[in-house]
Amino acid sequence: MKNNPLPVEIVGGGLAGLSLGLALRRENVPVTIHDTGLYPRHRVCGEFITGLSETTIARLGLAPFLKDALHHHSVAWFLNGRPIRTQNLPHPALALSRYQLDHAMAECFVEAGGSLCQNSRITDKTSIPGRIVAKGRRRGNSSWLGLKIHAENVPLLCDLELHLGNQCYIGLTRLADNRVNICGLFGQRNLSAQGVDLLLLYLGAAGLPELANRLAAADFKAESFCAVAAVGFDRQVSQSVGMRLGDACAMIPPFTGNGMAMALQSAETALEPVLAYAHGVTDWPTVCATVHQALRRRFYTRLTSAHLLHPFMLRPRRQRWLSGLTRSRLFPLQTLYALLH
Ligand SMILES: Cc1cc2nc3c(=O)[nH]c(=O)nc-3n(C[C@H](O)[C@H](O)[C@H](O)COP(=O)(O)OP(=O)(O)OC[C@H]3O[C@@H](n4cnc5c(N)ncnc54)[C@H](O)[C@@H]3O)c2cc1C
Repeated sequence: MKNNPLPVEIVGGGLAGLSLGLALRRENVPVTIHDTGLYPRHRVCGEFITGLSETTIARLGLAPFLKDALHHHSVAWFLNGRPIRTQNLPHPALALSRYQLDHAMAECFVEAGGSLCQNSRITDKTSIPGRIVAKGRRRGNSSWLGLKIHAENVPLLCDLELHLGNQCYIGLTRLADNRVNICGLFGQRNLSAQGVDLLLLYLGAAGLPELANRLAAADFKAESFCAVAAVGFDRQVSQSVGMRLGDACAMIPPFTGNGMAMALQSAETALEPVLAYAHGVTDWPTVCATVHQALRRRFYTRLTSAHLLHPFMLRPRRQRWLSGLTRSRLFPLQTLYALLH
């Protein structure tokens, strides 16, 4: 066991990178995080967290960052603007702004003695001992577009409204300070506009003009708008050289509200093996193989189930099926959420 732990380098300072970096700093491991961006900043995210257990929160010391999160209990489903059903969640979901969450974690990481290199893009893909890739989703050639904005003055039917449209779903989630997160996944179309105008155009094109009209009265926070193109999803944790965590290891469809929990859980899974490496107990290839196997096992069922369900959220014929099942209380929401833990 080494007296001076070996250093660890993390590429990507999102939830996976920051949570692991912080937990390692608490054990005195020297950690450098590189991120292409600057903090604080908005992200394309519904900011609705399902499936995060008390064990993960305690192991990663996340409680101070989650103290202002709202606890959500209900979801209202809509198809083409018409309400289908309101359901209670089996476990409360958390809702909080990534602008605040990532910023608070980044500050705490630096206070704990971590080295945070902002505006620093790592392009070298070599797998070197101690390097962990947590740089978010891999760019694919998918045609899905993610759009997000915050707004005030948006009365909601319940904590989360989930609207299904043609090649789209969009969530409206209550946040603190009377804000609402409006975030959707859309089949990319040839529409030219910017910011909230683009979002409203997409809603119209997806057969949701009533929702667009309803939102027209909202007080949009233009600075919070962000977009991300070519969003692809994984049915399994991908094979890789070295260690990949968070979306970089597998991206789950956003309707599950489970991507943030998975990013944190992947950091939790990696923590003990990476500590063993830093203290000279295990070599790096063994640590990477151990973490990869553990992540494959941990995420297998939820990735497979979400992959099977995703077309039912997006394709009109299958949405009608889903709507029928939901109305007649046959849609297995409880089972789905049980799989996300
Ligand atoms: C439309 C949409 C809606 C979503 N809604 C939800 C939701 O409601 N609930 C939920 O739980 N999840 C949701 N997600 C998923 C969630 O946002 C992600 O799963 C989560 O952010 C993953 O965290 P991460 O740390 O792996 O990656 P990120 O948070 O993406 O962080 C990766 C970081 O790496 C940095 N980076 C990238 N490349 C490099 C490089 N070469 N060098 C250095 N740094 C680099 C980036 O700047 C970024 O800061 C949604 C996703 C989408 C697309």
